[in-house]
Amino acid sequence: MLMSQLYAPTLREVPAEAELISHQLMLRSGMIRKSTAGVYTYLPLGLRVLHRVMDIVREEMNRADGQEIMLPIIQPAELWHETGRWEDYGAEMFKLRDRHERLFCLGPTHEEIITALIRSEVRSYRQLPLRLYQIQNKYRDEIRPRFGVMRGREFIMKDLYSFDKDEEQLQESYTAMYEAYERIFARCGLDTRPVEADSGTIGGDMTHEFMVLAESGEAQVVYCDSCSYAANVEKAEVRLPEVEGEDAAETMQAMARVDTPGVTTIEQLESFLGSKADRFVKTMLYMADEKPVAALVRGDHTLNEVKLQKHLGCTTLALADSTTIEKVTGAPVGFAGPVGLSLPIVADCAVPVVRNAVVGGNERDLHLTGVNFERDYNVDTVGDLRQAEAGDGCPRCSGTLVEAYGIEVGQVFKLGTKYSEPLNAAYLDESGRERLLLMGCYGIGVSRTVAAIIEQNHDEDGICWPVSVAPYQAVVIPINPKDETQRDAAEAIYRSLSAESVSVVLDDRNERPGVKFKDADLIGFPLRIVIGPKTLANGQVEIGIRKTKEKYTVPVDDAAQEAAKAIQR
Ligand code: ATP
Ligand code: MG
Repeated sequence: MLMSQLYAPTLREVPAEAELISHQLMLRSGMIRKSTAGVYTYLPLGLRVLHRVMDIVREEMNRADGQEIMLPIIQPAELWHETGRWEDYGAEMFKLRDRHERLFCLGPTHEEIITALIRSEVRSYRQLPLRLYQIQNKYRDEIRPRFGVMRGREFIMKDLYSFDKDEEQLQESYTAMYEAYERIFARCGLDTRPVEADSGTIGGDMTHEFMVLAESGEAQVVYCDSCSYAANVEKAEVRLPEVEGEDAAETMQAMARVDTPGVTTIEQLESFLGSKADRFVKTMLYMADEKPVAALVRGDHTLNEVKLQKHLGCTTLALADSTTIEKVTGAPVGFAGPVGLSLPIVADCAVPVVRNAVVGGNERDLHLTGVNFERDYNVDTVGDLRQAEAGDGCPRCSGTLVEAYGIEVGQVFKLGTKYSEPLNAAYLDESGRERLLLMGCYGIGVSRTVAAIIEQNHDEDGICWPVSVAPYQAVVIPINPKDETQRDAAEAIYRSLSAESVSVVLDDRNERPGVKFKDADLIGFPLRIVIGPKTLANGQVEIGIRKTKEKYTVPVDDAAQEAAKAIQR
């Protein structure tokens, strides 16, 4: 490809709307252009990278016995009614009507469609396991589309669905996908960490998210500093406190009433009473399936609503409004406490061991001190309800948890019978008995992966593509293409590289060298070959490695071979 012909409109300025470095660099290097919020056009360079990633994904899916298919984007509402997800999916679903007023959606995911296909096609255990996948556009009307292709409303996903006869076969599919994901991301030049994730309302089933650790990540994760435990904070467990808390040796004081006018927050209480937040017990009021419930966590801890919802086993969970709080506690917001509260009460494990706690008094401007579990209040259940945070004990070993942010590039999920049951997808087992299919689903955000690769592979000058996904592996730059010797040498190297199946661009533009170098760095060709008058006079050309900035000269006749060698490295 000639640079003069390449449709890669690069930008010098950082586009104002782009916060994330990957978004800025994709716009600046002419990979993408925005069409409307969360919807992008891929220009040649962007599409080439996307194709490189898809090639890797496809190879690894095929290697893991996946068979590629293409499911429809337009999906009838009826199927989604069968699983109850037409309502559950909510506003994120793009819905549309045809001329006969029939309802459809643009597929945000494909469990319904594929299960409906399989239920009428697969009859026998002999046809299992079956692993089918596609690489296709997905549509989700995200509340906050942002960060370019990182969170789009139209984006590209690889989704594979596994159908197995029993738990053991499902585990094999899950492991095969998990390992394929590790290979895919490594081949894309990404450093990822699989983390345990919450399986939502399904419960019990296993799921891992593949996270690219990055400051800009939207997901919060914790991992252990000494073992391999890692989890999304929505799910992360914490090491439970000793049965006897640290302060258990302390003698129980008498419970006392303390006037705390206008003191409603933990920070205000800390300075008002001069004691630390870990001595307070926070009482938070929720509506769980429309019924009020109180949840207790230690003052310095954060309640995790995902854990709370799971613990309560409720379908809906929301903070109670101030009217409800006044009604059930008898006090305005900020003074709720467990003593004398006649509501279901659940407590985080760290709460019962707090000796001589400070709690709300259920009266305006009143707190209670010297409050002790069992003597002064009781709870219905105790469980792991709080958010894990840096410094917490690892639940698996004696290590300590560290906090980080992650970009979720993929997720693997054991679904079990979640979809085969409502959609009645069954097969006949060895003894002719009808059994439900066990399913798994496995997604990779292909377009998000491209952005994540840039997040991890760039410097102040632009993108540093790993060779495996680079739009072109090399660029050949004659300093002055009007000079015949330089031009001839450049063209010869360009032709030999092409012959060696290296994807290469010849920068034939009559631009200043500075402009060419800047563009080359911005676009991020892993390798550049510069043909300049000084080196050429000695029969040499310069090879430069984008990522390490390493430069060395080689004889002009060996240039193509040397460059191809450098690319293999
Ligand atoms: P998120 O929590 O980031 O919204 P998700 O859990 O809803 O993602 P999945 O349904 O698991 O996403 O989809 C599989 C993969 O598709 C994700 O791991 C992610 O890489 C990608 N993905 C999901 N939503 C988007 C989006 N709006 N834009 C780009 N990629 C996305
Ligand atoms: Mg996910």
